[in-house]
Amino acid sequence: MDASFVIKDIRASVHTISIQIPLLSEKIAGFGREEQTEFVFCEVETAAGVTGIGMTGQFLPHAVVETLHTHILPLVRGMDVRDVEAVHSRVWWKLNARAMTGVISSALSCLDIAMWDIHGKGVDRTIAGLLGGARKNVPAYCTFGFPQYDLDLLAEAAKLHVANGFKGLKLVVAVDKGGWREDARRVRKVRDAVGDDIDIMIDANYLFNPVQAKQLCRAIEDCNITWFEEPLHQNDARAMHDLRRSTRIPIAGGQNEGHRWRLRELVEKHAVDILQPNCCFNGGYTETRKAAHLAQAYNLPIANGGGWPLFNMHTMAGLMNGWYVEWHLGIVSIGEAFFKDAPVPVNGEITLSDKPGLGLTVDYDAVRSTRVKP
Ligand SMILES: [Mg+2]
Repeated sequence: MDASFVIKDIRASVHTISIQIPLLSEKIAGFGREEQTEFVFCEVETAAGVTGIGMTGQFLPHAVVETLHTHILPLVRGMDVRDVEAVHSRVWWKLNARAMTGVISSALSCLDIAMWDIHGKGVDRTIAGLLGGARKNVPAYCTFGFPQYDLDLLAEAAKLHVANGFKGLKLVVAVDKGGWREDARRVRKVRDAVGDDIDIMIDANYLFNPVQAKQLCRAIEDCNITWFEEPLHQNDARAMHDLRRSTRIPIAGGQNEGHRWRLRELVEKHAVDILQPNCCFNGGYTETRKAAHLAQAYNLPIANGGGWPLFNMHTMAGLMNGWYVEWHLGIVSIGEAFFKDAPVPVNGEITLSDKPGLGLTVDYDAVRSTRVKP
């Protein structure tokens, strides 16, 4: 075996960072919710000393770290990072034979992303290239519409991001005290501010029931929304199908589904127009590729929800049905802090570098200074 590809060690840790949102004076902790301020940074090292990195988000991060160190490392030590099916198969049958999701999916995502990073470095190809190299540039939309903005600041922020070149903007809905009626006013305010040539997306993060979601859809049918992301509690596929049939607004979802069977359900039940497998949550590029191929067979585009654009840009660039990357202003702050060479969108497009693997150079000072002590 080639030692440069053989797994020797996994080191994972929990981190936190505060985020500056444009036009707001106060920094925001984590991702805007007080219980979601931490994330996981993971390094996999090979027998030849090559390292790859993986990251995952805000869900039970301490348990994810423990899972990587205590349960996954003893299983995969000595395996080749290129043998992704062998590694996934072993982790599945030893740790997750009943196909649960959550901590195990987040931990597997970290491992898998790092394996692809090492593989890319070993053969001098980007992960997008290893996935199939569909394109070099990917469009990015800006997730900017946070509940901290009042109506006027929301419009001002929307214009700012359009002036910076973005051609797609996303707003959070379903959290305002004014309910769906206030959401409708906010969406209309943004449409009026940016004109007809900008894509507008909305995201309820599971927080509406079907009646509220239908009322909002009816109120903004004329605003030409590009997609309504995760409108309903539990991503209930049957109810999402029902909503989708009742509105002209395309429906998107899947960012935190932990494996292909949950994503398959969204496709099979005609619940989505756009599938959103996120490599930082669903088991990494290996699982994302399967979901993307499933979507291809149904002529569905895939797009990034749930953030982590520096990882998901490889999916969107590598696979033929890849579409928008989410430039989530909160999570973008993490990339800016952790990597010395994170790409930024220019005129609403990210150009992937030719550097191998993820193409990211870690700033270890930032890794140390943001670490949450165990
Ligand atoms: Mg989302």
